[in-house]
Order: sequence, then C-alpha cells, then structure tokens
Amino acid sequence: MAKKITVPRGTTDILPPEISLWQNIESTARKILDIYNYKEIRTPIFEEVGLFKRSLGQTTEVVNKQLLELASNKEEGFALRPEGTASIVRSYIENSIDRKESLTKFCYIGPMFRGERPQKGRLRQFHQIGAEVIGQDCGSPYIDAEVIALSVNLLKEFGLDNFKLKLNTLGSAQDREKFAAILREQLKPHRSKLSEDSQKRLDQNVFRILDSKDREDQKIIGQLEIGYDHLSTDSREYFGKVKGALDGLGVKYELSPGLVRGLDYYTHTVFEISDTSLGSQDALGAGGRYNSLVKDLGGAQVDAIGFALGIERILLALSDKKTLEQLTLNCYIIALDEVALEKGFELLNQLRAEGISADMSFKLSSMKSLMRSANKSQARYVLILGEEEIKGNVVTLKNFESGQQVQVNLSNIKELAETIKNKRV
Ligand code: AMP
Repeated sequence: MAKKITVPRGTTDILPPEISLWQNIESTARKILDIYNYKEIRTPIFEEVGLFKRSLGQTTEVVNKQLLELASNKEEGFALRPEGTASIVRSYIENSIDRKESLTKFCYIGPMFRGERPQKGRLRQFHQIGAEVIGQDCGSPYIDAEVIALSVNLLKEFGLDNFKLKLNTLGSAQDREKFAAILREQLKPHRSKLSEDSQKRLDQNVFRILDSKDREDQKIIGQLEIGYDHLSTDSREYFGKVKGALDGLGVKYELSPGLVRGLDYYTHTVFEISDTSLGSQDALGAGGRYNSLVKDLGGAQVDAIGFALGIERILLALSDKKTLEQLTLNCYIIALDEVALEKGFELLNQLRAEGISADMSFKLSSMKSLMRSANKSQARYVLILGEEEIKGNVVTLKNFESGQQVQVNLSNIKELAETIKNKRV
C-alpha cells in the first residue's frame, strides 16, 4: 500500500465544521479594528532572513532556533515569517510612509511560522491578529493605552473574560542597558548553578534568562530583586501616564517587573495577556513599544508600538465556553421526483439570489434518507417538493427546531424569502 502523506508536524487542517468559529473571530476582529481606525496591511509570508535577524535579534529564541528557512541558491536566503512586526516595518520604510504620514495604524490577520517543538497550543504554523501604530506622532502614552485596551477589548468581544494583563516598562534603550547590567550583576554569583543555556544568555542576552523554564534557573530568578531603579525620570513619568490612561479606561492590569519579552526590539511599555485555563502555553497575546526599530532597519527615527494575539490559543480558551454562535445553513431543499428535482434546483438558485444560504440534495432517494441528509446539513428549514407540491405550485416549509410546517406559494419568491429571513415559521 502506498505510504500515506500526512499534514506536516505542528500544522493542522482547519476543517469546514470549525471554519465558522475562525470566520467569527476574524470578522469580529475586523469590526473592532475598524472602529479603532486600524487599516489592514498584507505583506508576504516570507522575507529575507536578514530582516528577522536584524529586527528580532541574533540571539533570540525565535531567530536562533525557530526560523523556518527556505532552501535557496542565493547568498541571502528567505525565511517564513515568525511574526508580523518586522515585515510591517520593512514595508513602512520601503513605501516611504514615514515621509508621507505622521501616524499610521496597521492591522493584520494571518499565518506565522516557527520551528518549535509542537505541543498543545504551540504549533509550527499558527495564526495571529495583530496591530501596529508607527510614526513621529506615536510617542504618546495614550497610544500605549489605546493599543493595550484594543487587545483587551478584542478578547472580550471574542467572549473571553478570564484573562490577566501583565504590564511592565523596560524604559528607554539606555535604561534597558542599565537594567541588563543590574541583572548581570545579580546573576553572576549564581553563574555555575544556572542552566547551560542561561550561562550563555548571561553574556549574550541576559533578559532571556528571565523567561527560562528551567527549575534551577527559576529558583535563582525568584530571588532577584527586580525593581524600577534603572528607569530615568522621563521613563518613569511616561509609564505613570500609561498606567493613568489605563486606569481611566477601567483596564485592569498587574505590574510585572520581570516581564521582558523575548525579542530584542522592545523599549518602554511591554505587556502580555494570559489565560490560566490554558496550562503551560497560557499566553493569549503580547506586545509592546519598539521605538528604535524603524531607525535600526534604515528608516526615520519614529516611535512604534504593537501587539499580536494568537487565534489558536483564543479558540482553545473558548472551547469550553461555546460562546460563539455557529453559523448555520438557512435552507435545505429535498425533491421527491425528477420534476421536483428540476424545480428544486431552480428554487435553490432563486433563494441564493435573495441572499439566503441554501443547499439541496441533488440525488433522488427515499423520504427518510433525504430527511437524514437535511438534518445533517444543520439547516434551519427543510423545503420539501413532491408531486403534490408541484401540482399546487407550492413548497412545504418545515422549521427543524420547532417542527412547525406550512405550505408557501412559489409564485412569489420574494415573499418566501421574507418568510425565511424573518423566521416567520
Ligand atoms: P509572541 O510574539 O511569541 O509573544 O506571540 C504572540 C502570541 O502569538 C502568543 O501570545 C501566542 O498567543 C501566539 N503564539 C506564538 N507562538 C505560537 C505558537 N508556536 N503556536 C501557537 N500560538 C503561538
């Protein structure tokens, strides 16, 4: 027997029964993003490897271990995008938006790729809903508050309420350096007890030690004195205003001085939203400011902030809540003889032309078997056409839920459409 080809590890097929959940999330997200005036941008799903190395940082987990590179003969290869920000900043600069606009609000919905070890909630292809605000006018604490509130409101609109928002600031690029030095100083005496990975991180990227899952590392991290001593007066004031604006909006948060985020480009505000019902992979989304990235990638010195939410994690968190209404088919037509089949096909397309979702059984069979198909389609109504109906130019309209059944004249399709749309039966 030929060997079966299966879906690549860490990826999944999203099959038709689940698709309405995805579409619901996506359309809700688009509606909210539109209300906040964020405009969609679509960038390629692969980019030059150098883009990710330069923006996310050479020593970060995502670049070091998880980039899925495409085989290429060229000197500079390509990689599937592991996140959205780098591509958007690349596009922002390439299209000279920094010279045309003082503030741009982008959003995106799409697949991301990371060569991770797959487990529940951790995939190699996953999907994110994200937003970025970039421009010379972006340096306002109200924009931090807007972006955080937007991510929280999206999750609420999806039907989630059991999540926690962790908030921190890394301060300016200089403050970040001071913070790194303080951490190094405190961690050095423990060097030999740190995991091998963390010993390397101590020299290369000390912040990543704070994200270590190693037990011994965590004990040492637990004893660190992490505060806000490294922050300049300006950074402190800025963070105070962000918190004030969030308080004003009624957005609840928990201060988390150890929250540093895994990527190199963050400065000032960083945040993460988690849902404890999710187990070890509990982050629903995260984001923060990246005021140096546009310049680092060759653009003007403009500030920026953004976030990304993981759709698979949102669906996992929603799975026991079932708050999203499943979209259902409105009508399913069954025909009991050849003449009825022809009439049924005509009726099917007349209903669709009226904007009513409809389908039919294209095969003749026993009433019992046709009713089974109608039932399986999960349609709200079954429309029955038999010899008697054809003679009287009517259709029997049956509401599956209530069992109520009426005959409706077929000479006025618009009236039949209204009856279905307004659920009169
Ligand atoms: P990150 O940039 O890693 O903080 O990712 C933002 C969000 O995307 C996370 O909070 C998750 O919800 C989601 N996410 C990141 N990596 C994965 C993955 N490998 N599988 C599923 N979701 C992910």
